[in-house]
Amino acid sequence: LIELRGVNKHYGKLHVLQDIDLTVGRGEVVVIIGPSGSGKSTLCRAINRLETIESGTIRLDGVPLPEEGRALAELRAEVGMVFQSFNLFAHKTVLANVMLAPVKVRRKKKEEAAQRARELLDRVGLAAHAEKYPAQLSGGQQQRVAIARALAMEPKALLFDEPTSALDPEMINEVLEVMRQLARDGMTMVVVTHEMGFARSAANRVVFMADGRIVEDRTPEEFFTAPRSERAKDFLSKIL
Ligand code: ATP
Ligand code: MG
Repeated sequence: LIELRGVNKHYGKLHVLQDIDLTVGRGEVVVIIGPSGSGKSTLCRAINRLETIESGTIRLDGVPLPEEGRALAELRAEVGMVFQSFNLFAHKTVLANVMLAPVKVRRKKKEEAAQRARELLDRVGLAAHAEKYPAQLSGGQQQRVAIARALAMEPKALLFDEPTSALDPEMINEVLEVMRQLARDGMTMVVVTHEMGFARSAANRVVFMADGRIVEDRTPEEFFTAPRSERAKDFLSKIL
């Protein structure tokens, strides 16, 4: 579904993405881990064209990503993104946040979008909070709204960049549980996270990045029980 070949990017002298090859199949959950500054966020943002790349190709469903214009907006609708900071509109209700893009971008009728939004809020366990404002919700609840909002566009895939890093410990699990359910429902997901329990239990593959390169790309079982590279061994010894 998502295919990167020979992707390169620099920030000045820093070679932040080095010859990245990555394939994410339909329904696959790929967890990206690695030390701070290794390029994980940049990779996610490149997939969604929030960052330009200098060389290589990124394809979605076999079609090269558009550079700009209307096609780019459509791409963004097809690959949803959930960030560490939830980025909800503070002055809109939860329901309005989830309805917004389907009405504006997909030109859905309001009643239809509202009904769908309520279904999605129910799916993330927030049906009772539709009329509240983001500030009235906990961080974990806000992140679940952000997930419902991404789902409202009926994306082919979802990218998550450290979706639980800004949350208090007791709220991390409720968000991970929603993500696990999405994975079970067959959603294609790329997830940057430090939650190794999630990586072990939900990922089909673990991609370990260091210094802008993909150093390992293996099943969680292989990766966690027998990392091949010194970088990965060193990383795991620090976090496990
Ligand atoms: P973290 O785990 O801390 O989120 P990361 O793996 O997501 O790290 P990136 O955010 O992709 O890392 O950043 C990779 C490198 O690129 C870092 O050294 C960072 O300082 C640098 N970088 C990121 N964004 C920019 C930018 N807009 N301009 C210049 N350098 C940048
Ligand atoms: Mg990052």
